[in-house]
Amino acid sequence: MLPNFKYHPDPLGTEMFRQDGPKTCCCCGRQTDIWYDGPYYGDRNLNDDTGDDDEMPYEKMDFLCPGCIADGSAARKYQCMFQADELVGEKPEDADKQDEWLHRTPGYYCWQEPLWYTHCGDYCELLGSVGWKEIEEMGLEDEIADTYDENVNGFEFSFVREGTYQHGHVQCFLFRCRHCGRHFITVDPD
Ligand SMILES: [Zn+2]
Ligand SMILES: [Zn+2]
Repeated sequence: MLPNFKYHPDPLGTEMFRQDGPKTCCCCGRQTDIWYDGPYYGDRNLNDDTGDDDEMPYEKMDFLCPGCIADGSAARKYQCMFQADELVGEKPEDADKQDEWLHRTPGYYCWQEPLWYTHCGDYCELLGSVGWKEIEEMGLEDEIADTYDENVNGFEFSFVREGTYQHGHVQCFLFRCRHCGRHFITVDPD
């Protein structure tokens, strides 16, 4: 069972957890069938003094269980965050929201540096990799046409319709605002 990650509700679907346990969690020492296979980063706020931010003891973080991400214990123990901390939109002011997103939410891998949408004063939820076919299947064409920001993505919208594929060499990442329900995409070329 996975804890509820409100900003990343299906991290098995996005393949940021693997399910081939049992493994021993490096943080809590308990057996876990599901372990984290996503990115993490040195916490800039904590590591500024050492000058070696982003230098992380990767071997020590093999087989991290979902619970140790959700309760913040892994971020504390390893002085890490799970997000690259690159936002599209305004940074939410609420310190607990910042902490939950940076330290208690699984990150994601993409070709470029991962971006994360914010809206309505909060982080959006990440729904995963999509192409235009999936956007059409979800009936989101008009909404995405409306919210799409060429300046963020660097591609004309016509290219998004014709050249993006789920998990493809050019993919989109779909975000949804947890408050107003609006959907947004980033475009991620390899
Ligand atoms: Zn654990
Ligand atoms: Zn919103």
